[in-house]
Amino acid sequence: MQPIIYIVIPCYNEQEVLPLTAPLFLQKLNDLYIDGKISNDSRILFVDDGSRDNTWDIINSLSQLDEHYIGISLSRNHGHQNALLSGLMTAAKHCDAAISIDCDGQDDIDAIDKMVDEYLSGSEIVYGVRSDRTRDTAFKRGTAQFFYKLMKAFGTDIIYNHADYRLMSKRALNALAEYKEVNLFLRGLALMVGFKYSCVEYSRKERIAGKSKYPFKKMLYFALDGITSLSVKPIRLITAFGLIAALLSFIGIIWSIITVCIGSAIAGWASTVSIICFLGGIQLISIGIIGEYIGKIYLEVKHRPRYIIDKTTENLE
Ligand code: UDP
Ligand code: MG
Repeated sequence: MQPIIYIVIPCYNEQEVLPLTAPLFLQKLNDLYIDGKISNDSRILFVDDGSRDNTWDIINSLSQLDEHYIGISLSRNHGHQNALLSGLMTAAKHCDAAISIDCDGQDDIDAIDKMVDEYLSGSEIVYGVRSDRTRDTAFKRGTAQFFYKLMKAFGTDIIYNHADYRLMSKRALNALAEYKEVNLFLRGLALMVGFKYSCVEYSRKERIAGKSKYPFKKMLYFALDGITSLSVKPIRLITAFGLIAALLSFIGIIWSIITVCIGSAIAGWASTVSIICFLGGIQLISIGIIGEYIGKIYLEVKHRPRYIIDKTTENLE
């Protein structure tokens, strides 16, 4: 029995690119079926993440065109990670393995072949790893690489240059479903799930059409979310900072006593002000970092649903 593979594709305001890339996904599915690698029950599952343009209409008409296209629509924009999760959890009910991929053609569709091969030879998770990002803008490449390094430095276990292009088996998806956190960072969670995994290299392409939905600000927050949802290292760093500051001020106190004793004490306005500013700065940053974690705890204890499915295409039971 060939495995049923679901390709899960989150889409947010993608009316320009969807009509161009959808046939490529279908072609890939057909090729794999003809090669005898996957079942004909495999599907392309679009997740409309509360788009304001015609994305949902396009998904609907695709589903009427070919039964391999199916879709769900979320009640509003829940963000890329939640949209992806909703698709993966929907797929888990029907498939043997699901592949998550962006809808803009940037993730090389041909890497799906290698992913399926790895899956067939026993990997539960296959990570797509970008071997070259020369087609990204220098700014995007630079900032993305900076974030990977930053995250690694802060103790977040991630696979370098892996975004969310990934195959997960049904077992891995069911294990992922056990992670109930609302602060989602799927690429880190997949590693936490464990199981046998492998990597497949591909080269990152240009967006076929439309604009990026990840401006710098969103990327920055995403990286911060990644760090704070997977690691407590920043809080430990605060403690280390506090200890160093305490040690320095202790040395300062001894120094000031010595200067008083040898009679060379002067009105230390500048040094007092700079110490106050320094400590004030550190305290504010520290409170900010702790606040970030408390904010996360607040969101977690409320336990709100991570996504709400509004409607599905008619061919999805
Ligand atoms: N996306 C989404 N919800 C959002 C933002 C993005 O579903 O709130 C989807 C988007 O349609 C695309 C994928 O996530 O399929 C990656 O987004 P994008 O290509 O804009 O990011 P970039 O490749 O520039 O990092
Ligand atoms: Mg993209």
